[in-house]
Amino acid sequence: MSKYVIDQPEVTVIPVQGSDASFPIRRIYCIGRNYAAHTIEMGGDPDREEPFFFQKNAQNADTSGEFPYPPESQDVHHEVEMVVALKGGGKNISVEDALDYVYGYGIGIDMTRRDLQSVAKEQRRPWEPGKAFERSAPMSALAPADEVGHPDRGRISLSVNGDLKQEADLGQMIWKVAEQIAYLSRFYDIAAGDVIMSGTPSGVGPVAKGDEILCELEGVASLNVKVV
Ligand code: MN
Repeated sequence: MSKYVIDQPEVTVIPVQGSDASFPIRRIYCIGRNYAAHTIEMGGDPDREEPFFFQKNAQNADTSGEFPYPPESQDVHHEVEMVVALKGGGKNISVEDALDYVYGYGIGIDMTRRDLQSVAKEQRRPWEPGKAFERSAPMSALAPADEVGHPDRGRISLSVNGDLKQEADLGQMIWKVAEQIAYLSRFYDIAAGDVIMSGTPSGVGPVAKGDEILCELEGVASLNVKVV
């Protein structure tokens, strides 16, 4: 008999390349405007101001390879991002120590209901309806850092139906992965199971039902997603 008054909600997991075991998700943090060219296309100033983060829900992660077009939006955009999965954490982690807490890396899409996000920005309301919705974080399997190291260079790209839409090098990130972990740990208790979506390059744009999306992170992971 369960010790809970209802059935325990399922834990959302990410598969691990070459393993039967999987990575259970605790939280998903997403950084905004972390590549200069994307900052400019969103109307911002690419000078290195303080980073900012928002969260998606752990249950928003999805590794099925399908993205159902969500309700209440006519303008859903793709944002390809490197995914960083943590195996530990704490408070006030130093930049020098931060990568010790990384389990592995993958690639994902920060799917965004851009029309709802734009309304939220105009009205100075939270971004949640635009960002944290069902299946809004398609993700690849993770590559363990033990096998691929800690990539700080390499091509990240996204194409839709064979047309290249987003392309950059990880080296162009304004805030590096270690800096993101250190910064987050000033504000939150970082822990094993936390996932960071590390920002998107320029070229974000709309998706439509039937689209075949291919995301690639050089030497680490790839992801195919069909919009249904
Ligand atoms: Mn994003």
